[in-house]
Amino acid sequence: MNSKILQTLIKPILIAALLIAFFPGYSQLTDREVMDRKMGRYKKDTSYIYTLPYKEGKRILLIQAANSEMSHKEELSLDFKMNKGTPICAARDGVVIETKEDSDEGGVKEEYLAKGNHIIILHSDGSKAKYWHLKKEGVVVNVGDTVTKGQVIGYSGNTGYTAFPHLHFQVVDVTGKQIMTRFYTRKGVLYPKPGNWYKAVRESR
Ligand SMILES: [Zn+2]
Repeated sequence: MNSKILQTLIKPILIAALLIAFFPGYSQLTDREVMDRKMGRYKKDTSYIYTLPYKEGKRILLIQAANSEMSHKEELSLDFKMNKGTPICAARDGVVIETKEDSDEGGVKEEYLAKGNHIIILHSDGSKAKYWHLKKEGVVVNVGDTVTKGQVIGYSGNTGYTAFPHLHFQVVDVTGKQIMTRFYTRKGVLYPKPGNWYKAVRESR
């Protein structure tokens, strides 16, 4: 590089350095912006907005969410605490591709892993939602059915690998990788956090 080119470059570099020094916001995200990106509240989030998987107006306590302690360390799924028999609604339109409802067994032993009644729904983008731990004969849709969000698809229970009655909700992308899901709630669109109650609404307010 000859000195002439260097000289023409030095000025803009100096100006840029000064700008960054005087406007630190340029070069650095605020704590809030970093947190928003981590939590997915970042405005460029174009991910699908799900409907909470229970009846409109119902308030449910979220026990576990992405990477929280207990059994979900490696998972991005959600555990909604539900009394047995609570109606479960589709969180998104799709086609039912798998169901199981013949089990009446559940607990925190490995032998119960395969005993969970469930529904799996395929979405138009190739992702799949899994609804787990339903009660015996608690599935009211059939494989091949088209369902629309908000439609009752089954009833919660305590079957499979589970410590208490709840709905385990999980979405995987087209490659099978678990993804985080955001929802319409009474407080706007958000990624739910454990320990909070969420009232189902059908769209943003
Ligand atoms: Zn769970």
